[in-house]
Amino acid sequence: MAIMVHFSYLSEEEQAQLRKVAEAIVARGKGILAADESTSTMGKRLAGIGVENTEENRRQFRQLLFTCDQTMGENIGGIIMFHETLYQNATDGTPFVQLIKNKGIIPGIKVDKGVVPLMGSDNESTTQGLDDLTKRCQEYKKQGALFTKWRCVLKISDHCPSPLAIAENANVLARFASCCQQAGLVPIVEPEVLPDGTHDLERAQKVTEKVLAAVYKALNDHHVYLEGTLLKPNMVTAGQSCPIKYKPEDVAKATVTALQRTVPAAVPGITFLSGGQSEEEATVNLDAINKFPGKKPWALTFSYGRALQASALKAWLGKTDNIKAAQEEFMKRAKANGLACQGLYTAGTVQSLASQKSNFVPVHTY
Ligand code: 13P
Repeated sequence: MAIMVHFSYLSEEEQAQLRKVAEAIVARGKGILAADESTSTMGKRLAGIGVENTEENRRQFRQLLFTCDQTMGENIGGIIMFHETLYQNATDGTPFVQLIKNKGIIPGIKVDKGVVPLMGSDNESTTQGLDDLTKRCQEYKKQGALFTKWRCVLKISDHCPSPLAIAENANVLARFASCCQQAGLVPIVEPEVLPDGTHDLERAQKVTEKVLAAVYKALNDHHVYLEGTLLKPNMVTAGQSCPIKYKPEDVAKATVTALQRTVPAAVPGITFLSGGQSEEEATVNLDAINKFPGKKPWALTFSYGRALQASALKAWLGKTDNIKAAQEEFMKRAKANGLACQGLYTAGTVQSLASQKSNFVPVHTY
């Protein structure tokens, strides 16, 4: 007798395809380059080096990153782009998507349309972009993208994050993931708990656990195929203005414990954002997380924006003559993080232009 199925789901083949892509992005020694800054966020990065925020300057900087040494593909498994970048070409006419693929790197795209206020909350937010998302995903797939990213933001204060913010952001992340998987794209689910504030490590851990638990309940409610997803969380760190200073081993313990309690073993990889940490800090913390003893059934790696690009931007300064030096700065961080995601990095062994101390700038948009 035929089994009655009361729901539609991804076929075995579709599931296998998603799983294969997710696993390839976080293969041993690899992480993600988050080069998906929106036009306005990229403007802030370029302003920092005195370069005008034009489409051509944005293209030039992305070209610099995507034309690094072929060995880049040993440590970068995926690159997240912004809509504009996905459709751009290198100066010689090669599409960026092709350049990336030629290095064995998987192209991806940020699909959210930014954060908007949640009315009646204490300055909390949700993220918009669900309307027409399935259709956009189908177009992005035609353009060569194989994965997507969507960022939600939660903040810590005396009464935040509120139950409303936790529930709403978990649900919108699950809807996003569901739309992407329907279009055959691997969703990277990013619930970022911001590091702004005076809270200690314990509070950051508790909040991260509550947020992640809600996210995985929502993903399950929405029938998301976890093996074909990646998680992009914050590391558990104390607030930037917390008077207590913690060691990388403390951050590692808090982070791994929070993840063990909330993230199913079916998820292939956890790719941390750098969230305003300096380049070296982000590398050392990732290394400590991987060195931390205990159950870690997922790849624990990086999906850094600022912590992979800060020195490269500083070396470039918008000048053609500096491209090579900037590429070398980028490659140093990519290699250092490639070691850190295996717990093989030794603090201080890679010296970068901008890695000494972050001039922390909270970003509420990306
Ligand atoms: P940072 O590593 O600069 O925090 O950015 C990662 C990212 O993609 C945020 O959405």
